[in-house]
Amino acid sequence: MMLEASHRYFHQGAEALELPQHLREILLTPFRVVKVELVIERDDGGMLQHYYGYRVQHNRVRGPMKGGLRYHPSVDEDHASALANLMTWKTAVVNVPFGGAKGGINVDPSQVTRGELDRITRAFVQHTKDVIGPTVDIPAPDMNTDASVMGWIMDEYSKYEGFSPAVVTGKPLDLFGSAGREEATGRGVAICIQEAMKEQGRTPEDLTIAIQGFGNVGSFAGKILQHEMAAKIVAVGDHAGGVANPSGLDTNALAEWVKEHRTVKDFPGGDAIDPTAVLTWDAEVLIPAAIEDVLTADNAGDVKAKLIVEAANGPTTPEADAIFQERGIDVIPDILANAGGVTVSYFEWVQNIQQFNWDVERVRDELGKIMCKAYASVREVQQDKKIDTRTAAFALAIRRVGRAAQSRVHLRQPVDI
Ligand code: NAD
Repeated sequence: MMLEASHRYFHQGAEALELPQHLREILLTPFRVVKVELVIERDDGGMLQHYYGYRVQHNRVRGPMKGGLRYHPSVDEDHASALANLMTWKTAVVNVPFGGAKGGINVDPSQVTRGELDRITRAFVQHTKDVIGPTVDIPAPDMNTDASVMGWIMDEYSKYEGFSPAVVTGKPLDLFGSAGREEATGRGVAICIQEAMKEQGRTPEDLTIAIQGFGNVGSFAGKILQHEMAAKIVAVGDHAGGVANPSGLDTNALAEWVKEHRTVKDFPGGDAIDPTAVLTWDAEVLIPAAIEDVLTADNAGDVKAKLIVEAANGPTTPEADAIFQERGIDVIPDILANAGGVTVSYFEWVQNIQQFNWDVERVRDELGKIMCKAYASVREVQQDKKIDTRTAAFALAIRRVGRAAQSRVHLRQPVDI
């Protein structure tokens, strides 16, 4: 579904630019697809266990390829391809000098020990070390991979290439991760909402917001919107439960609750609601910040928000997207809305390359500048071409990648993009 949807959205953007078919094919095709077998011995000395590791390197025209590494039994080439493709457009929308990649290992981390996971990760690095690196492809955390996994990758890669913190981002702070990385995606989401409100001549003060997912992205977006921008988070839902409060939930207390209980369910600061009801909650803004394909033809007609800000990757199916357009609901697409994470990953890489650490104030300041500029650039394309926000974001990204590609060689017939 994700691959199909990401291609559909790409073609809408390409259409807006009147991009010829052959260029579309070139831009959609991954540069390199890597699949490696990873064999490890179990801790109990029993049977050897094997897994597959994938890395889809989609596009490297604008810089080293960048994207997460996911550990999940469902990881396969198709899924990695869809997400790698989105990374190319995401890095281009925020105009950071990276291309796009994505990958993972089909391991369920709950079925292996930390020691086994360390060895699986190192096997992956040994088999991919020639095709990753600070100027080639820079992995980052994704589902089920955290700062420690990034630390192991850095350690293993450094055995071959010398001390190389810039080979991965999302590292522990003690190993030259960046200040402000944890909150970055949520902060980017909050900045998009602030910019959208500016267009309406208001601030997020008293704005009512519903959030699906209160993990890393949802919780930071909620906390920043409430505590720095005075918005009201009126409903939150996750995989196990939901909670609502018309006067606004206390997001700090809710985040503490989730840390302890792993869910928002039974949070005492509001009324229990059905977890899926959050998507159609009576709020001015909806932030899907959980998983993909949650806004579909089945529920799009019932969404009450006037603005949807896609913190998750791929939360809206193309059918739902068409319904939102018809209904005049503005959707700030994932490739813009959640690009704060990759932007601060870029800052981490910059700091590692320069061997100079920024403080959190500088990270926030630079992130704000990049997000606001990207937001304005998307709106400019949108107004120029009279298209929806997602199509404008794709058109902007495709234009940047297409122009960069054509500038790297002499072409007898360059296409005006
Ligand atoms: P997370 O694991 O910290 O949190 C995920 C949240 O989603 C949890 O609250 C969980 O309960 C909820 N959830 C899971 N399954 C659900 C379901 N079926 N229905 C409702 N809720 C469900 O993950 P995260 O890092 O916050 O990422 C959330 C989304 O944002 C993902 O789509 C991810 O790809 C995207 N994203 C994350 C980052 C980042 O920096 N973490 C960057 C860009 C995009």
